[in-house]
Amino acid sequence: MLNFILLGLLVVSLLAISGCVDKTAEQAVEPAENVQTYVIGTEPYFPPFEYADENSSSTIIGFDVDLINAIAEDQGFKVQWKDLEFDALIPALQSGQVDIIASGMTITAEREEAVDFSEPYINAGLALAVAAGNEEIKSVDDLKGKVAAVQMGSTGSQEADKLKAEGKIGEIIYLAHVNDIILNIQNGRADFTINDLPVTQAFMSQNPGVIKIVDDEITSDSYGFAVKSGNTELLTMLNQGLANVKEDGTYDQIMAKYF
Ligand code: GLN
Repeated sequence: MLNFILLGLLVVSLLAISGCVDKTAEQAVEPAENVQTYVIGTEPYFPPFEYADENSSSTIIGFDVDLINAIAEDQGFKVQWKDLEFDALIPALQSGQVDIIASGMTITAEREEAVDFSEPYINAGLALAVAAGNEEIKSVDDLKGKVAAVQMGSTGSQEADKLKAEGKIGEIIYLAHVNDIILNIQNGRADFTINDLPVTQAFMSQNPGVIKIVDDEITSDSYGFAVKSGNTELLTMLNQGLANVKEDGTYDQIMAKYF
């Protein structure tokens, strides 16, 4: 009998506790429901712009991540990062799988037809790099018959395509990530790469003696964040947030942290 009474009391008190917990939980999530979450598409193998944290591979860090987080805080929205291959980013934006692309994406006239870009947020033109010990290639004029390793869907690969069409280079190997490009240069399968200058420079400072830059001004370009064509509301928030974090010094802090 006593056992039954105790059991009854236990059930009643558990119900009371769970009732309380539920209520608090509801109250706690209520304000968050008003905050919009935007999904950010990125290819996180592109240091120093977006890459896996070495202490926790599921966490993406980098210049773009800090800048988007600062803009989100300024504009009062939340972000959720989605890992995609670079050449899948624009299709994902167009199909509504992601709301924003933040992936070291160069603003080009061709891409402007498919997406809307924010104001430029950093200068990043293309550079020509070769193995550190290569004494043969000193400029774009020395690439005849030479093999390129470039990132699929990137402006570097478009530049290589252009040079190939003009008969100025040999074969092109298209790869998914910058690391694969470097491996191909290291093992001699490729002679050179054309890639974004700040990314090549960051690789060189982390891994001295592997590659060297022989032309740092093939093009002068800028990165922008992309939204779906016509999404002016989100574009205005990004541009306003970018202007604010530039104004209040946050942008300079992020710049100093990564460069
Ligand atoms: N900036 C280059 C482009 O936009 C490469 C970007 C990247 O690989 N993340 O094509």
